[in-house]
Amino acid sequence: MKDPNCIFCKIITGKSPAQILYQDDLSTAFWDAHPIAPVHILVVPNDHIDSLNSIQNNHESTLGHLILIAHTLAKQHGIHLSGYRLVINTGPDAGQSVNHLHLHLIGGRRMPFRFE
Ligand code: AMP
Ligand code: ZN
Repeated sequence: MKDPNCIFCKIITGKSPAQILYQDDLSTAFWDAHPIAPVHILVVPNDHIDSLNSIQNNHESTLGHLILIAHTLAKQHGIHLSGYRLVINTGPDAGQSVNHLHLHLIGGRRMPFRFE
């Protein structure tokens, strides 16, 4: 299912531009338009899911798939040994700004872990 007003659904279907790195039946990965690190890739399910708050039991394999793809991309971009972070922002307090579930793959620099 796609949401016609969703920017990530439009990227997945090729209606909006993005630098797509990988796509298969379940997932799409593309460069984040505003990277916060040398490697900043978004891995998204092809089906529109608003956020982690909308996941259901039948999404289990898709969610696992997203992590496997993120790991493959981390290896491809040479950050699997230096380290990387997978982030899923959910809801306002986490700063979720696009309501299509997405996994940030971030790496290529040291990242502090602290709250502002
Ligand atoms: P979040 O704040 O967790 O919802 O993350 C949304 C991410 O999507 C941000 O890092 C944005 O830079 C990124 N983003 C928004 N629009 C686009 C786009 N059209 N192409 C690529 N990345 C985008
Ligand atoms: Zn969507």
